[in-house]
Amino acid sequence: MSEQHSTPPLRLFNSLTRQQEDFVPVHTGEARVYTCGPTVYNYPHIGNMRAYVFADVLGRTLSFKGYRLSHVINITDVGHLTDDADAGEDKLERQAAKEARSIWDIAKHYTEAYWADIAALNIRAPMQWSIATDYVPQMIAFAEKIAPQHCYELDSGLYFDVSTVADYGRLARAATEEGEGRIEQVDGKRHPADFAIWRKTPLGEKRQMEWDSPWGKGAPGWHLECSVMSGALLGFPFDIHTGGIDHREIHHPNEIAQNQAFVEAESGCGCADLALDVPAHSGAKLWMHNNFLVERTGKMSKSSGEFLRLQLLIDKGYHPLAYRLMCLQAHYRSELEFSWDGLGAALTRLKRLVMAVASVRAQGAAAAAAGPKFAGHLARFDAAISDDLNTPVALTLLEEVVGLKKVDAGEKLAAIAAMDAVLGLNLLSLDRADLRIRPKAAGITEGEIEAVLVRRKEARAAKDFATSDALRDELAARGVEVMDGDVVLGWEWKLGE
Ligand code: AMP
Ligand code: ZN
Repeated sequence: MSEQHSTPPLRLFNSLTRQQEDFVPVHTGEARVYTCGPTVYNYPHIGNMRAYVFADVLGRTLSFKGYRLSHVINITDVGHLTDDADAGEDKLERQAAKEARSIWDIAKHYTEAYWADIAALNIRAPMQWSIATDYVPQMIAFAEKIAPQHCYELDSGLYFDVSTVADYGRLARAATEEGEGRIEQVDGKRHPADFAIWRKTPLGEKRQMEWDSPWGKGAPGWHLECSVMSGALLGFPFDIHTGGIDHREIHHPNEIAQNQAFVEAESGCGCADLALDVPAHSGAKLWMHNNFLVERTGKMSKSSGEFLRLQLLIDKGYHPLAYRLMCLQAHYRSELEFSWDGLGAALTRLKRLVMAVASVRAQGAAAAAAGPKFAGHLARFDAAISDDLNTPVALTLLEEVVGLKKVDAGEKLAAIAAMDAVLGLNLLSLDRADLRIRPKAAGITEGEIEAVLVRRKEARAAKDFATSDALRDELAARGVEVMDGDVVLGWEWKLGE
């Protein structure tokens, strides 16, 4: 799939216009994408990682459709307050105080933890990870450029006056019809939705992270960094800006307002009417948002003791790609509810795929070109993924191909490879053994379990049910639950709750 397809066109849902639109790149043959990255004050939870699985599938789809992809994901190591608006403390400052470490240590540790999750989920590395603190001089230059027309200074910082741009908050309004995002009180703000683009260090205080600026010592506001890094690395307008759905309410409307101001200052038109009817005025043509992963008991919250991070899933014996598959089973714009049973079902589905593909590989087949037998499936796969990234349907098409009988193994492998290049389940290199992760808490080795299961199978074959039951009980006593046999997967077991 290397040359560019013209049919079917790639259609993507734009949160700004609330409709699906044909993807028409700003630069022929290229796709430039910016993804709001993590605030590295703690481990990401698996909900956060859904945002990057989504951005990865988008990037892989653009590559599949033949576009040359330039993807940037930022790392927020300054400026994100405990509240998304202007209230509270800097998340990194607070965590550094809590852990009694320097902010730089905190940022490094949690950035590396995030990158480990990215790799475990088979998320492709972007063209560039942009680190916010590397761009502070550019942020100051950007703020100086828009300040005369759009900002005012208070004792606490430099604020953006949202009444100076056309259509402020359209992104949020379009989505919620409730007006601008949450309203925060800061003394002296002209409008509740005005936001800080530079936060001054209060007199007599010293922050771990602060820089000199025309507005005094201080630190940039969170929204400023994404405008600056996306514009600097991808150029305004670029094609697609992504983030989680919460960003649709405050962070992205504020980025858009800054971008409008900047585009206006650059054009020198002195006009304050760069209305958002022209997509390029917002800095990016398409604004895309993934819906949330939700969990009823509140384990997603980073403030709860044992929160749902990827390592917890692995510690419990689930392969991280089972979580990726779980994400793909839902459309990115639908809410997805997390449950351990759901994750278990996703792992079983992944095991079936991996075993089936491994057996095609075992036939000694090297991927050839997908043969004519697969053309229909590939066309339907292309149609599904081009329909605003319909991964649930794309997955079933992959399974259909995997299940096709009496076909050339090399051609089949090529069709699987083309589909997996989009879905990213690593099917061409995973083996069943890779998916067997011994839970951290297991007091019994996998070999011991398997040995008991072999004895149990023999007992059942000899219709010696008393021994079979006794062996099951022996395992149960050691915390291992034997599940029903499965024709494809064989005997399965899991650690009891
Ligand atoms: P943060 O590190 O808080 O800036 O969040 C990183 C990304 O995760 C952002 O794109 C958020 O919108 C997104 N996000 C946060 N919570 C969830 C969730 N429960 N499900 C999906 N995405 C989320
Ligand atoms: Zn951002």
